[in-house]
Amino acid sequence: MSKKYLYIILFIIAILGLSFVQYQYFRIGLNLAGVQFNENIAEAASDIKEDLSVKNELTFLVASAITEDNLSFNLSLDSLKDASVYFLDDYLKETLVQNGIKASYKFSLYNDASVSYLQSKDTVTKEEKLLSYPIVLEGYLPELMDKKMILELRFNNVNRYFLSQLNGLTIPSIIFLFIIIMVILWVYRSFYLQNNLILTTNEFINNLTHELKTPIFSIGVATKILEEKVPAKDKELVNIIRGQLEKLRSQVDKVLELATIEGKKGFVLSEEVDLKPSLVDISSEFKKLAELENYSFESDIVGSRFIIKGDLNHLRNAINSLLDNAKKYAEVNTLIKLRAFEDGKDVFVEIADQGIGIEPGDLKKIFDKYYRVSHGDLHVVKGYGLGLNYVKRIVDLHKGKIEVNSEVNKGSLFTIKIPLKK
Ligand code: ADP
Repeated sequence: MSKKYLYIILFIIAILGLSFVQYQYFRIGLNLAGVQFNENIAEAASDIKEDLSVKNELTFLVASAITEDNLSFNLSLDSLKDASVYFLDDYLKETLVQNGIKASYKFSLYNDASVSYLQSKDTVTKEEKLLSYPIVLEGYLPELMDKKMILELRFNNVNRYFLSQLNGLTIPSIIFLFIIIMVILWVYRSFYLQNNLILTTNEFINNLTHELKTPIFSIGVATKILEEKVPAKDKELVNIIRGQLEKLRSQVDKVLELATIEGKKGFVLSEEVDLKPSLVDISSEFKKLAELENYSFESDIVGSRFIIKGDLNHLRNAINSLLDNAKKYAEVNTLIKLRAFEDGKDVFVEIADQGIGIEPGDLKKIFDKYYRVSHGDLHVVKGYGLGLNYVKRIVDLHKGKIEVNSEVNKGSLFTIKIPLKK
């Protein structure tokens, strides 16, 4: 499974996990709200019991309504009942609020034979889920009626009421979760678009360089034919064409190689190879070139064999790129050294020059793709900032390391370390 899908799955698991944890917290919150509600009800019930146990304006009004005695009040029986329901309800509401309960409720007052005396106006339908709290009254009212009297409080939709109490927690957590999901989706989308752009650009460069190879090849053949036909005095011109064509070919090859290793994600390097003969070849070729182009080259290759797992073509290109740079970023008559040795674990290839050096601030960036140090007066040095990026990629693919030490105007030392085959 690719890393991309692994991350997507991890993300989904994390979001589901977070939602589950939130849900559990939410349930705990609901339970706590329920416990709190019960405690508040118990307190309110004891207040109600106490207040209704004595004779006072309210209990007297209620007593008159249930005994249907309207002599003390100038009211019809129906109005008396309505008034007592109204005032009892008012009292209950206030007592509940004082005890922290704002949920809507209904009440009914009945005796132990289930004869109902009073009840709140809007009667309750049976289907409603109700929480019922019967309060057995003491004192004045039951004594007057000589019956056990019960005042029942019924709450419907308590869950909705608890939810409303938890709103301060649930809504923000849902919003934050939503924000996290949105941000991650946005980042993923940008990353995806960016990746697509890189892939398209690589494909484009790849196609373009392939298109360039055919004309380069044709010009090469034509130049060869021309070389044989032109008079001696014009040979110089043909040489210029060949030299420049060679440069162009090497740049196109570099771009192509880079595109190849980028395209091949795995790039398995399972072949066992000996790096030593390649290093010897490179050194002798470079020595010849040094004589022609007026600089010195020394090589010191210690060890009989450097057996590694890898791709010699790419490694040769990488070492040539470093040698090219050593030559490019130095004055004429400079000295370039190649040293190779092994320590039983790794093979080391060092390329030292006495060139212009690299500022400490640039050292980390020179391996980035397209990065070039701007040299003010040395702008004549041509390049695309691809060489060192290619070298680093090749070294990385061989599970190796590349290091650079440099001092401005003194020179640079590039060290490649590649693990030997055990
Ligand atoms: P290019 O040479 O095409 O610019 P490279 O990736 O090979 O690209 O190098 C990146 C930069 O690192 C160069 O622009 C140069 O400034 C610096 N650099 C590389 N090698 C050397 C060196 N041997 N000495 C000094 N500077 C170097």
